[in-house]
Amino acid sequence: MNVIGMYLRLSLEDKKDLKRDESNSISSQRLLIKEFIQCNIELRGYEVKEFCDDGWSGTSMDRPGMNQLLAEVKKNRIQCIIVKDMSRFSRDYIEMGTYLNQIFPFMGVRFIALGDHYDSKEDNGNTIGLDTAFKTLLYDLYSKDISVKVKTSVKNKCANGEYIFGQVPFGYRKSPVEKNKVIINKKEAEIVRHIFSLAALSKSSTQIARQLGEEGIPTIMQMRHPKADRDGKPLVWSSSAVRNILNNRFYLGEMAYGKTVCKSVGSKKSVRVPKEEWKVIPNHHEALVTQEVFEQVSSFRPDHVTDRKREKHPLTGKLYCGGCRYAMVYKPPREKNKYRWFECSKHALTHNLYCCTYFCADMLEELVLTMLNKELMIRGEAVRQKKNLKSLKECQLAAVKDKLKNLQREQELVKDSKDGAYEEYAAGSITPEEYRGKMDKLDRQMELLSGQLREWQEKCLELEDEQAKLDTDMRQIIRYSHIEELTQDLVDTFIERIYVYKDKRVEIKWKFRER
Ligand SMILES: [Zn+2]
Repeated sequence: MNVIGMYLRLSLEDKKDLKRDESNSISSQRLLIKEFIQCNIELRGYEVKEFCDDGWSGTSMDRPGMNQLLAEVKKNRIQCIIVKDMSRFSRDYIEMGTYLNQIFPFMGVRFIALGDHYDSKEDNGNTIGLDTAFKTLLYDLYSKDISVKVKTSVKNKCANGEYIFGQVPFGYRKSPVEKNKVIINKKEAEIVRHIFSLAALSKSSTQIARQLGEEGIPTIMQMRHPKADRDGKPLVWSSSAVRNILNNRFYLGEMAYGKTVCKSVGSKKSVRVPKEEWKVIPNHHEALVTQEVFEQVSSFRPDHVTDRKREKHPLTGKLYCGGCRYAMVYKPPREKNKYRWFECSKHALTHNLYCCTYFCADMLEELVLTMLNKELMIRGEAVRQKKNLKSLKECQLAAVKDKLKNLQREQELVKDSKDGAYEEYAAGSITPEEYRGKMDKLDRQMELLSGQLREWQEKCLELEDEQAKLDTDMRQIIRYSHIEELTQDLVDTFIERIYVYKDKRVEIKWKFRER
């Protein structure tokens, strides 16, 4: 059984800052790491052990929770350590570097720092993924190749904690006394209730928007930012603003969270979670509408808007179901907030048990990208070897060309000898029998040479062909050294076919010639 050591730390100074930034609290750290594990297929099956230092500074490694964690590591009982960010583990960069570059690799422990987008598994021994500041410090200690582009360390939304409320929905405001508590904003709430009452009269969102304009009801923008410069443009209620209000369950007193989860370490993007999987806290705040009204209003106003775009995915046409080998079809989002996925095109007809009925598009893109980068890295190593191979082939080619020239010269000589033999015969210095004997010998020689010549010409063409292939391979590898986004061009250049399986396995047939 693989074990994850989840390490949490909060210093006394952090505690003072908690009012301002709650994302460092022990519970936020725990939640963040747990959610990360949940959305990572590889780690989901691991056992999770928690190690915590509440009230300890990160400048010294001598902390009770840390000591327990390291003791477990020494006993080989931990396979992976996850922290919110590196500073949770240690504030000493040199110490951090020693653990990352020596101790953990030696112990075979994978180290993940979510906020730094760092995962030792993707690190491959160079300093990719490490923070710029961190890298500069390490550079003197470990004179490693840092030519690889440093990923800009944009703070992951996840790491910053999505749990803190952003803007409070229209109709509410934050309580001036109680932190994070939401209370009703009377003026805004009046408008919200008005919108719901109009909808209850079976008016469409467009009709409602028009009526609000006619009644001179201020828009959300006008209510919230009355002084904002609008460049003289009049503000009007849009039907989508109305629809958003009518579909927001927040007005029922529900608080939904977990709408997005982070894709993986190193990824700046987060994945949208289908609405059905959102976590909902009922009776979180005072409701503005009753369940009855809400249901009545939303029953004739379906959530998904009808204009569904036929979006083409770069992997379309390359992707096949590993179960039945039929093509997978792309299901674009129905509305800007919805999930994107692939599904087997024939499953509904065949009911094949092994069909891949669902594959999240974000996850697939991420996997394909990782696999492609890994493949390119391995081949990048091969570039140097290929260069050697190329110079070797060049020598071979030169030798073959020399050989060809020699053979051609020999053929000329044989031709000369034949002319000479004829002259001797014509002058009567050799008998017809002798002449025929000489000619037979020379003809055989000529035949042999022609055969050899053909053989070497073939060899020459072969070598020239190989060389051209080597050149294209090298050019491709050099051109794409590290890829951040999967584009149509990339897919067409490198990928022949992809098979996806029910157990979320991905198999890629590359277009590369050979490794
Ligand atoms: Zn299938």
